[in-house]
Amino acid sequence: MSIDWHERARALQIDGRILIGGKRLASANGETFACISPIDGRVIGEVARGQATDIDTAVLSARAAFEDGRWARRPPAARKKVLLKFADKILGAKEELALLETLDMGKPIQYSLAVDVPAAARCIAWYAEAVDKIYDEIAPTGPNALALIQREAMGVIGAIVPWNYPMIMAAWKLGPALAAGNSVVLKPSEKSPLTALRLAELALEAGLPEGVFNVVPGFGHEAGEALALHEQVDAVGFTGSTRVGRKMLEYAGRSNLKRVYNELGGKSAFLVFPDFDDIKRAAQTVAGAMFFNQGESCNAPSRVLVHESIADEFVSLVAAEAPKYQPGDPLDGRTVMGALVDDGQLRTVMGYIEAGQAEGARAVTGGKQARTESGGYYVEPTVFDGVANTMKIAREEIFGPVLGVIRFKDEAEAVALANDSAYGLQASVWSSHIDRAHRVARALRAGTVHVNQYDEDDITVPFGGYKQSGNGRDKSLHAFDKYTELKTTWLRI
Ligand code: NAD
Repeated sequence: MSIDWHERARALQIDGRILIGGKRLASANGETFACISPIDGRVIGEVARGQATDIDTAVLSARAAFEDGRWARRPPAARKKVLLKFADKILGAKEELALLETLDMGKPIQYSLAVDVPAAARCIAWYAEAVDKIYDEIAPTGPNALALIQREAMGVIGAIVPWNYPMIMAAWKLGPALAAGNSVVLKPSEKSPLTALRLAELALEAGLPEGVFNVVPGFGHEAGEALALHEQVDAVGFTGSTRVGRKMLEYAGRSNLKRVYNELGGKSAFLVFPDFDDIKRAAQTVAGAMFFNQGESCNAPSRVLVHESIADEFVSLVAAEAPKYQPGDPLDGRTVMGALVDDGQLRTVMGYIEAGQAEGARAVTGGKQARTESGGYYVEPTVFDGVANTMKIAREEIFGPVLGVIRFKDEAEAVALANDSAYGLQASVWSSHIDRAHRVARALRAGTVHVNQYDEDDITVPFGGYKQSGNGRDKSLHAFDKYTELKTTWLRI
C-alpha cells in the first residue's frame, strides 16, 4: 500500500530545540525562527535560533566530552560498534527522516527515501567499518632510533553544512570525525535544520556518549560565525558557498588558526565530442544530472560544451528530455523534481534566467516559474542555447534547474573553455576514443572527471574541488586526514 505522505506530514511533531550534552534545550535567549516548507510556503514548526552563547555551551560540552576520553580513548572497534548501530538507527527511521528532509527542503520524497537516507547511513557505517583497519606507521630511520607516526583525533570539530543535501552533508563530516574519536558541534542550515536534530537523537539512542555530537540550529551570521570563531574549535568542516568559504578562512585567521576545510560551489563542465557514438545517452545523462535535486547540486553539470557540428541535434535532444522533469508535489511518490528551497532561491534563479535572456542566450525550453498555485517555489527545467562562457549564467553558480549550452570548434578550445572558470569541482568528457578521453580528462582542472557517464558515485572515492571549489576532500579514507593530527614519537633504541 502506498504511503499518504501528506497525512504523515500532518501528524508530524516537530521538535526544533537545540541538542547539547545529550539534552534538548531552548536557545539561551528563548528565540526561535519559523521553519517554512518550500512545498507550499507554510510554517511547519519553530526552531531554536542558536546564538553565540548556545554555541559556547555546545563547544564546551564537546570539549569536556573529548578531554575525558569517554569517546576519543575508546578502542576503534568499540567506536565502530556504536557507529554501526547509529547507521542502523538511521535506516530504521528511514520514513520519518525522508519526510522531514522533503518537507524542509523540497526534494521529491522518492529520492529522500532512496538516496539521502541510505547514503547518510552508508557513510556512517563505512567510516565505522574503516576505523579499526587503519594502522599507524614506523618511519624508515637509522638503526638506533624508532619513529612512530600516529594519527590522533583533533578535538572539537565545528561542522557547518548547507541545505541542499542536509543529511548527506552532515554525514560526510560526522562519519570520519566521529569514527576518528572527535567531538562535533553541527550547525545545520537555517533553511533545513530538522534532520540534523533527529540524527543527533538517533546517535544518542545508539549509545554515542552525551556531548560527543551536539547540534545548534541557527543563522549563519549568528550561530555559524560564533562556531567558526570559537577558540576551542580545532577544525571547521564547512560545506557551502564560495562566498561564505572565504569568511571561514577569515574567521580562522581572526581566532585560533583552526584548520578550515572548505567544500564549495561549482560550475561543472560537460564536454561532448562529435566522435561520441550515442549522443542521445549523453543528452539524457546531462538532463538527469542537471535537474536532479532541482539543480541544487554543487556538482550539477550546468555548463554543457558541445562541438559545433552536433550542437543543434544535441540541444534538441536535451530540450526533449527537460520536460520529463516538470516540477510536481514533492510529497507525491511519482514526482521527479520538487521545489526550490525558499522564496529567496526562487528569486535568485529567476534573476539568472532573466540575465541569460538579457545577455542574448535563448531559452529553448522552460524559463518560467511553475506550480504557482501551490504557494511553493518551483521553476521549470530550463535549457539555454547560444551561451557564451563570458555570460553571467556561465560564470556564476545558479543552483537551480538551468543548463547552458556553449559551442566549441576543437579539443583545445573545449579544454580552455572548461578550465576558464573560478570553480573546479567536477567535469565530464564524452568521446568514443580512449586516447582523447584520457587526454582531456588529464587536462581538466577538476577534482572529479567522469568519462562517458555522470552517475557513478561511491563513498570510497574522494569528493572535493580544485580552485575556488574548495580544499580538502570529503568521503573516502582521505577524509580522515581532515579530522586527525599526525604525531611523531621518537625513541632511542
Ligand atoms: P551558504 O554558504 O549560504 O551556507 C552554508 C552554511 O553556512 C549554512 O549553514 C549557513 O547558515 C552558514 N553560513 C552562512 N553565512 C555564514 C557566516 N557568515 N558565518 C558562518 N556560517 C555561515 O550555502 P548554502 O546556500 O547553504 O548552500 C549552497 C552552496 O553549497 C552552493 O554554493 C553549493 O555549491 C555548495 N555545496 C558544496 C558542496 C561540495 O561538496 N563542494 C556540496 C553541497 C553544497
